[in-house]
Amino acid sequence: MSGIGVVICIAIAASAALGVYLRLRQMATVAAHRDSVPVDFARDVTLDEHRRAADYTIARTKFSIVEKVFDAAFSILWLAFLLAPLYAAIASFIEPGLTRSVVTVLAFGFIGDLMDMPFSAAKAFWLEERFGFNRLTPARFLADEAKTSALELAITAPSLFAMFALLRATPQTWWLMAYVAFMALMIAMTILYPTLIAPLFNKFAPLDEGVLKRRMEALLAKCGFESKGLFVMDASKRSTHGNAYFSGFGKAKRIVFFDTLLEKHSPDEIESILAHELGHFKFGHVRQMLLQGAALAFLGFAALWWAFGSDVFAGWFGLPSDPGLVLVALFLVKEPIAHVLSPLFAWRSRRAEFEADAFARDVVGKEPMISALTRLTRDNLATLTPDPLYASFYFSHPPVPVRVARLRMAS
Ligand SMILES: [Zn+2]
Repeated sequence: MSGIGVVICIAIAASAALGVYLRLRQMATVAAHRDSVPVDFARDVTLDEHRRAADYTIARTKFSIVEKVFDAAFSILWLAFLLAPLYAAIASFIEPGLTRSVVTVLAFGFIGDLMDMPFSAAKAFWLEERFGFNRLTPARFLADEAKTSALELAITAPSLFAMFALLRATPQTWWLMAYVAFMALMIAMTILYPTLIAPLFNKFAPLDEGVLKRRMEALLAKCGFESKGLFVMDASKRSTHGNAYFSGFGKAKRIVFFDTLLEKHSPDEIESILAHELGHFKFGHVRQMLLQGAALAFLGFAALWWAFGSDVFAGWFGLPSDPGLVLVALFLVKEPIAHVLSPLFAWRSRRAEFEADAFARDVVGKEPMISALTRLTRDNLATLTPDPLYASFYFSHPPVPVRVARLRMAS
């Protein structure tokens, strides 16, 4: 490996060290506040619940430290020692060409998935289980893993073949065409995901007739949202965590409630959660995320164009310049860059959450939103006292105390 290769491996290690440092801060802050419920929540959250939330947060954070260190160590091992023999093994039975490049990427992905599996299993059956959230059975876990892998293979294999073929046909301009094709695939996925892919994993049913549905429909009509986009998902077969989300755009847009959320919340709270999701729709957040993804993908393809055409990139890691290997190496190299940029994307996402909260407050008032957020936090054992620096790096949603304070502040 060359000097630059060593520097990149050090950057991966430094990124992991930063991740560990932020997690240690998070654990220390949560532990320091474990024995007193923040004043704003003293009425709704018992000391016992608060302590359980602290224990759960600390357990999860510890777990993610192990994951982070393992990931970084493996990335470095791949670059420094393992990619070359993996490629040599593949090269010994596949001739140079498209297939060899595609198989290299798929083999790397497959090994990565296998390594992740024990972590996913431990998360569900040990971590979530201990705090009473897990509802997954081993059979369902394995079925989920198999379905996800099959789906990944069905999408990546043909895409990789097409990309490498394009690269061979037009070495200078391939990446612009590949980028356009990639974006078309992203947009198609955004539209098709709710109707084709999500149903492979969960059942989606329209909301039951009744008072709740009538109230929701009135709210939808008020906000100009077609009511056929409202669904209940059987999330309870995997976990007791409650949630709601917004997906798709145009005619394909829908709002999905976890059945676990509908069970636990009052109609007023559910209405405020719906109003919050409608806020995402009103402000065009899905479209903004897609545009952000488009900009990032453009940079990604530009980097690939450079790396595929470069005489030096593969050599940094002592690797042959097969496009499959180059793609894998670039994937590993991007991690520290993505990590350093994560506060920017997290900040944008939190800003969108504030906008959706403000919309919900205007539509249904602040009280139901505050009580919905409080209940969600309590039931999901989310911490009320995160470390601010940790939150600024990783939180896609502002900490609940901040959201509640902002809702209270507005008159
Ligand atoms: Zn939201």
